[in-house]
Amino acid sequence: MNSFNPLLIGAEAANNFVAGRRLVGDGMAMDVRRPSDANVYAALDSAGAGQVDAAVENAFSAFKTSGWASTDPRARMKVMRRWADLIEADAARLAPLEAVGSTRTIGEILAWDLSYTAECLRFFAEFADKMGGEVVATTPDKLGMTITEPYGVVAAVAPWNLPLVMAAWKIAPAIAAGNSVVLKPSELTPFSIVRVAELAIEAGLPAGVFNVVQGDGLSVGDPLCRHPRVSKVSFTGSTATGIAIMRACAETGPKPVTLELGGKSPQIVFADSKDLGQAAATVARAITLNSGQVCVAGSRLLVQDKVAEEVVGRIVAAFEAHRMGATWDDATTMGPIISEKQLGQIDGTVSRALAAGGEAVTGGRRAPAPQQGSYYLPTLLTGLAQDSEAVQGEIFGPVLTVQTFADEEEAYALANDSAYGLAAGVHTGNLDRALRATRALEAGTVWVNRYGRSNDFMLPTGGFKQSGIGKDLGREAYAANLKSKAALIQL
Ligand code: NAD
Repeated sequence: MNSFNPLLIGAEAANNFVAGRRLVGDGMAMDVRRPSDANVYAALDSAGAGQVDAAVENAFSAFKTSGWASTDPRARMKVMRRWADLIEADAARLAPLEAVGSTRTIGEILAWDLSYTAECLRFFAEFADKMGGEVVATTPDKLGMTITEPYGVVAAVAPWNLPLVMAAWKIAPAIAAGNSVVLKPSELTPFSIVRVAELAIEAGLPAGVFNVVQGDGLSVGDPLCRHPRVSKVSFTGSTATGIAIMRACAETGPKPVTLELGGKSPQIVFADSKDLGQAAATVARAITLNSGQVCVAGSRLLVQDKVAEEVVGRIVAAFEAHRMGATWDDATTMGPIISEKQLGQIDGTVSRALAAGGEAVTGGRRAPAPQQGSYYLPTLLTGLAQDSEAVQGEIFGPVLTVQTFADEEEAYALANDSAYGLAAGVHTGNLDRALRATRALEAGTVWVNRYGRSNDFMLPTGGFKQSGIGKDLGREAYAANLKSKAALIQL
């Protein structure tokens, strides 16, 4: 039994975390709502301009003086492992804190998010003594080498859709590499990461190495990214915000920036799929997981015409079997949309698609739900043109568009006709076709006969085209948190 009483969960006082302590923000106060029932459950005390500055200055001073960057890499590794252990041990407190104001169900958080967050810290901790520079080939009278060094202060800006997991992708490689971090979580899901910051201190991370500042994008995120002591920015969120952040980094640096942005990922089902039932179940899950509020949500089904009817029928059945409800209800299989604003955007796009001649085979409207929260029915749209808004734009909700194709060539042409290039899925029993697809698809990740990530942290994640620049996870993410210095010594 995972249920908890949401009425008992409120924000703990002081929501910012600077120099190893909780700090009451002196900026704008914001109400934070539970998307599950629309109630305000806590107040967020945003950091004021002076506090954002102080957080970065503290991080800089910790970088210079705390010894974290210069300590034995294996000592860094041990602290991060302890931190991961403490996160797992704190599940009874952290999981409700994460679930109450987010769209993640308590079951998902306990089964996956917390252990994944902890394992992400462990994974990057292991790099601390394994990735340095190299001695390069040169003439015998010289020694040439590259030396890797942390940047200093890394600013991280995170979204609301998987609050702890997204934060972990940013902070784990940056801190393992010896940087100090100032993180701004989404103002919609601000609280759980503050508890994680407290656990870092308990694990032995020096004060000031990991800081959290709260607030919205314009009053806190933008000045954080622009701060002159910030040497690198790592962002996950929408493409529009990513562009604004890149501009801020150009104007105040230039600073290197990693951008993990939006997507409109295709799932291609070929008639020769090994198991059409399995393929349809995977497609359905990939657009209803977290109510479609996942960057890699498989939001475009491309299905070979001869099996379209069967596959669509199975997906509709899977959609209609969902039980929508609060994140704290054990029976919930699909939680809420993060806010009324987001729900309005989803519904607006669907309404325009229907007005333009599309058909909602199922769904197409907000869901009647036991609570007064923001719920949207899993929706399957057919009859839309390739250039229509619903096929081209990221909806970030449980909305699947369906198009059919005759052959492989047409499938790849439709799949690649997108401004985004984050992920793609392919279902086929033909090995040659699977391998051709992995080459043909313009996406940062291609999944074959599955959809969605695993615990294979070595696989980097990141998008092509408007889906971003750079990678989270994998060796690339660790390397992106280090700068490389060349040294040439005349012997
Ligand atoms: P968002 O862009 O609205 O906000 C993301 C973060 O940026 C928030 O913390 C916000 O406060 C902050 N922000 C907003 N404006 C800012 C500015 N001018 N300067 C600095 N910070 C600013 O995105 P969202 O609605 O929170 O998240 C959903 C989006 O994130 C979707 O587009 C989704 O695809 C994307 N996403 C991408 C990945 C990935 O790995 N590619 C992962 C998760 C989510």
